[in-house]
Amino acid sequence: MSEKTEAFIISKEESGDSSYVVTFYSKLFGKINLFVKSARTSKKRFQGKLESGNLYDIEFIKAKKLGSLDSLIKIDINDENRFINFDKDISIFQALILEAINKFEINEQPNFEIYEILKFFSLNINSDLKIKKIKIAIKTLNKYLKILGIQPSIKKCYKCKKNMLSIRYFDLKNGGNVCLKCKSNNNASIFNLKSPINIKKLGNNYESLEILLFLISRFCEYHSGKIFNSVKYLRTT
Ligand SMILES: [Zn+2]
Repeated sequence: MSEKTEAFIISKEESGDSSYVVTFYSKLFGKINLFVKSARTSKKRFQGKLESGNLYDIEFIKAKKLGSLDSLIKIDINDENRFINFDKDISIFQALILEAINKFEINEQPNFEIYEILKFFSLNINSDLKIKKIKIAIKTLNKYLKILGIQPSIKKCYKCKKNMLSIRYFDLKNGGNVCLKCKSNNNASIFNLKSPINIKKLGNNYESLEILLFLISRFCEYHSGKIFNSVKYLRTT
């Protein structure tokens, strides 16, 4: 018997000479890996239909053998898919968000809110304004970290809850922005910014937003215990 669901592609890997293993985040099953046999040779069936970030209607069949992958048998663009006008920035932001979900999620643990976050990103990321795009990327990652229960503190010191004017020290382990008083001196997980970010001006300062996105990405790496390939494309401090 086959299963049907809506699903976003979050990554794909070549398998053998002609096939793919595609990782989806699906509405009904959460993260799933599906074997796509001969995807690279049978062009009619799959060409142009295995693009990361797109929303598809998929159908797959369960593997007969234990430990084998389930197989994708049908895939079509979902009516609600929003085509993204890709540019360099959007490609990097999308790669980062998909990678975060891929690295944090475990297979077959569906969470509708995560599915909705992928929708939120694809509905809102199209823009001609650089600053709007990076804000959507930060908002998407923050929403996701909130679901995971590890959203970093930005405007307040995570420890004493004092309102902060800037980000100078960012504690990757314990929760984000931290004031000088609360920062313990030899904490290896604290990222020290040479030029602090002004929080009041954050909303209209692209460079500061870039640094904030970088900090949140490092935070994701720290908490997943995994290196993110997409982080190297972000601006560093
Ligand atoms: Zn404090």
